[in-house]
Amino acid sequence: MTASVMCIFCVRPWGGEVKHSEQHVLGQRLKKHAEGLPNARISTLASLVFDPQTHEFVAPAATGPLTRGSSLLNMRTRDVCEECNKCWMKRLEEEATPLFLALADAAKNNAQLTLSRAEARTLARRAQVLARTHELTTPGPRVGEGPMGTRLRDGLVLLGSMVWLARTQEDLGIQVRQSHIDISPTPIVMPGDAENLSLLLAISWFHLTVLTYIPEAPGRTQGPALPFDRWTALQPCGGASGVEYPPMVPLHPSAAVVLAAQTARKNAQKAQNAPSAHGTRSTTRSTAHRPGQPSSNAQ
Ligand SMILES: [Zn+2]
Repeated sequence: MTASVMCIFCVRPWGGEVKHSEQHVLGQRLKKHAEGLPNARISTLASLVFDPQTHEFVAPAATGPLTRGSSLLNMRTRDVCEECNKCWMKRLEEEATPLFLALADAAKNNAQLTLSRAEARTLARRAQVLARTHELTTPGPRVGEGPMGTRLRDGLVLLGSMVWLARTQEDLGIQVRQSHIDISPTPIVMPGDAENLSLLLAISWFHLTVLTYIPEAPGRTQGPALPFDRWTALQPCGGASGVEYPPMVPLHPSAAVVLAAQTARKNAQKAQNAPSAHGTRSTTRSTAHRPGQPSSNAQ
């Protein structure tokens, strides 16, 4: 999909020992836990653009829904090198998958589950790797280069990033929603000059939704403000014991969709109110894939 010059995680340029690999975005270990879903997925793309004249968000026509004859679990990127894929990413996936499945079970059965801080950190790091890997499968901007990738490779979580969990009463199947938000505090906003980019990725796995926020410039943009009675913070993880999951009140399925627009509005407002800001632009692009759902439901 992209004409990358290097692996985003180890930042080594392609060539010689640095070979492209087939990285399954959601991970092959989840496949056997999603049997029975049709071998198809539906994609849509939409955007919101902030108009600095009217201070309103406008929505150009969305594209899709497009149906592809391949499961979402087959989604792959070739922009991760063989060594990263087979070494630290494989280990992380092996560690995180049982935790993820335990969360999914707890969400399905509305059961209590407590994660230790170390487990929460492993899951948060996996969610961040997944968000950055999914970004490689779509055209458009990239939320961060070198240092972000090497931080994840080195076993650290990303600075300023937040990861939340929620459960839905409704079985959402498997869905991935990705949003990019650009903020440009320049007097005359020109295409491509956005100063701060943020990435939001929501992954729904039946009754569980994991939402990951990654800012390009930590501290300069804010993540979504989430109602704490419906979302549980996985990162940052406070308290000595860990994270208690799940929350008591189920999330409405549309909540993850409106979050991106709310965040874009808030950040645009913040930039507008800053003394040095003269104008703002904020765009949100979303893609969603859901196997086994009627196309009329795709957003
Ligand atoms: Zn690599």
